[in-house]
Amino acid sequence: MTSPPSSNSPETNAAPRTGGVRFAPSPTGRFHIGNLRTAWVSFQFARQLALPWVVRFEDIDAPRVLAGARDLQRSDLAALGLVPDIELLQSSFRSRHLQVFKMGLRLGAIYPCTCTRREVQTALAGLASAPHDGMAPVYSGHCRAHAAEFDASALSSAGAAGSQGAIAWRFKMPNEAGHEDFIIARTNSLDDLDSFVPGYHWACAIDDFDGSYDLIVRSHDLAPALAVQRAIQDWISRAEYKPPYFMRAFHTSLITQENGHRLEKRTLGVTRAELLQAGWDEIKLWRAFEKSFDHSLLGEVTSEARERAHVLKLSDLLSSSRNLNSAN
Ligand SMILES: [Zn+2]
Repeated sequence: MTSPPSSNSPETNAAPRTGGVRFAPSPTGRFHIGNLRTAWVSFQFARQLALPWVVRFEDIDAPRVLAGARDLQRSDLAALGLVPDIELLQSSFRSRHLQVFKMGLRLGAIYPCTCTRREVQTALAGLASAPHDGMAPVYSGHCRAHAAEFDASALSSAGAAGSQGAIAWRFKMPNEAGHEDFIIARTNSLDDLDSFVPGYHWACAIDDFDGSYDLIVRSHDLAPALAVQRAIQDWISRAEYKPPYFMRAFHTSLITQENGHRLEKRTLGVTRAELLQAGWDEIKLWRAFEKSFDHSLLGEVTSEARERAHVLKLSDLLSSSRNLNSAN
């Protein structure tokens, strides 16, 4: 494993620009077999494309991060022969996430939203259009209308703009994108930027932009994040006068239980250790992954590709003697 030195200044430690195929697990518990399969698929892409396999542990959601989980995940990967060429810790890029956030405030790309969840839902009920799949609730844009009144330069002065508790910050999506203005960060109050906590879209978009990865691989449920993350990356490249980065993504099937519920890290019987106890070994697991994956998908990296089956049942994955994701 190599850790290339960062070319950025120590004050704003950004992900090193390495390219590669990246897999980004959250160290919130042991991997379940769905996580392992996504790791396996991303590794296949890296080898097929002869690119470094980059594993970025997304450990910025402090309350959910579990001590020791990263070591367990690392050893689960290693047992399957999946050893990262580059390993990164997302928390080490915290200063960069904040720096880009402050730039967004200065340039008017971000605005504070004081709506409660209930207000968002009430406003929605009055809208004719239905929320789009899996991304509810869709924000009405209420605070965007007042965003022009928000003066980011006043933030440095004490008690700016009547601080009133926790604030959600939204990124202004381009109008033509047809997506809501996603919440990209939270702070304890309007003028307490030191309490900044980046959301998934923000941290992920910035780190992928900085790392300039050739391909990201993640599970199908994260596919709706692509639009906002690309919009953030477009905006960074313009704001920082950097070459545009076009993120390519591959989304893997979501593995579900028999009842259709997605696997959670607390679901019983789906970690590598539990599968070993049930008579599995790493070779059998590897074969189950191979059988369930259409290898022709490795041949071409497109703007966004995904497995044909959005959902795979666990029992089908573990019992598969056929290719579940083949074209026929
Ligand atoms: Zn609002």
